[in-house]
Amino acid sequence: MAHVTATPASSGTGAVWPRAAIIAVGSELLGTSRLDTNSLLITERLNALGIEVAYKSVVGDDRAQLTSAVRFALDTVGLVICCGGLGPTDDDLTRAVVAGVLSLPLVEDESITERIRELFASRRMEMPAINRRQAMVPAGARVLDNPRGTAPGLWIEDGDRAVLLLPGPPRELTPMLAAAAEDLLRERSPDRSMVTRVVRITGRTESHTEEAVQPLYAEWARADVPVSPTILASLGQIELHLTAQAASTDRAAAAAEAAAAQVVEVLGPDVYSVDGRPLEQVVGERLAERRWRIALAESCTGGLLTSRLTDVPGSSRYVETAVVAYANSAKVSLLGVPQALLDEHGAVSEPVAIAMADGVRTSAGADIGVGVTGIAGPDGGSAHKPVGTVAIAVAFPGSSCSRMFRFIGGREQVKFQASQAALDMVRRQLAR
Ligand code: AMP
Ligand code: MG
Repeated sequence: MAHVTATPASSGTGAVWPRAAIIAVGSELLGTSRLDTNSLLITERLNALGIEVAYKSVVGDDRAQLTSAVRFALDTVGLVICCGGLGPTDDDLTRAVVAGVLSLPLVEDESITERIRELFASRRMEMPAINRRQAMVPAGARVLDNPRGTAPGLWIEDGDRAVLLLPGPPRELTPMLAAAAEDLLRERSPDRSMVTRVVRITGRTESHTEEAVQPLYAEWARADVPVSPTILASLGQIELHLTAQAASTDRAAAAAEAAAAQVVEVLGPDVYSVDGRPLEQVVGERLAERRWRIALAESCTGGLLTSRLTDVPGSSRYVETAVVAYANSAKVSLLGVPQALLDEHGAVSEPVAIAMADGVRTSAGADIGVGVTGIAGPDGGSAHKPVGTVAIAVAFPGSSCSRMFRFIGGREQVKFQASQAALDMVRRQLAR
């Protein structure tokens, strides 16, 4: 067990918490340099226990703001999880504020002081006096061991209200959160589990997807194990999040899986994964299954396509080679694209994309070749071929396919969508 009991924990009332609030504490989180990511880790844990996040907030190191945030959360939700502000310095206020809101005195827990002293001693240092503050805990709090730092976590129960205080650094928070979920929250979490399936879709807009899937929504809502959908559009793909709630994780998982299967039935090959796997991984798996090797010729994507494919561990099984041929002369010398083709059709054209795909496939001796050439912008567009025009080709032994695309957005967005479309063309060809 990852926690020690310093003072006997209050007996509690056997309250059940169906919902929780999260408060991320730290002025740095209000600026532009640091993002609150802890709340995502906390949410994942809570949802796994069937506890919904009612809301979350980010509060600076400010006594008045933090006090009203904690008070409001306790009044409206009952279970509050704070992270950050447990350090020894002046700006670390969480312990004192929570004690104040609950009208509990702060008392020194000698075992904490001793542990911190030992931690410093193990590094041949003396404990600075200010670290004593970390041993000041609200009376009756349960102390949660921090194997990765000096700030202990705290669990305070007060009638049917409870507060969990976790340290800010994610590597310290993670193990403590896992232990607290098992030891403190599981027992009093609602008799249900939440499981979310992420279905990923290409080749359709958000509204086309919604139109096709919507008839399922009513059925899901009425089911014994209800499934609620959230549709999210992002660059080059749509995500459908299917969340099922049931008395057991197994039942929730089965309902979410069945709902995902219904989506596949409706959308067919536009669904590329039903378990959140990214497109590059799905393509890699298909290539590995066929024992095919791929070669890539990239112009406007500048290597992004290859980078994404090689983000997947084990990609050496199927990535043969890649050429970034940015200049026309490089397309001729490195890929064997005929100059006449460039002159006749322009660099951003299907014939040139096909010649790039064929060229890299042949010279590498690969099974499949991909060519991407386009205008990422902001300059270089014309009325006939505006910024965002991209030609993509996939070459196989004895055949090839190609398509022109018109992507919207800035340079990075165009590059990403081009890499996404290229991966998707490969995926669809491999599925044939
Ligand atoms: P603290 O416990 O307030 O001393 O936080 C120490 C460090 O933890 C901060 O400087 C951040 O780098 C990190 N941190 C604090 N809160 C969060 C959060 N909500 N999400 C991610 N990192 C955080
Ligand atoms: Mg802080």
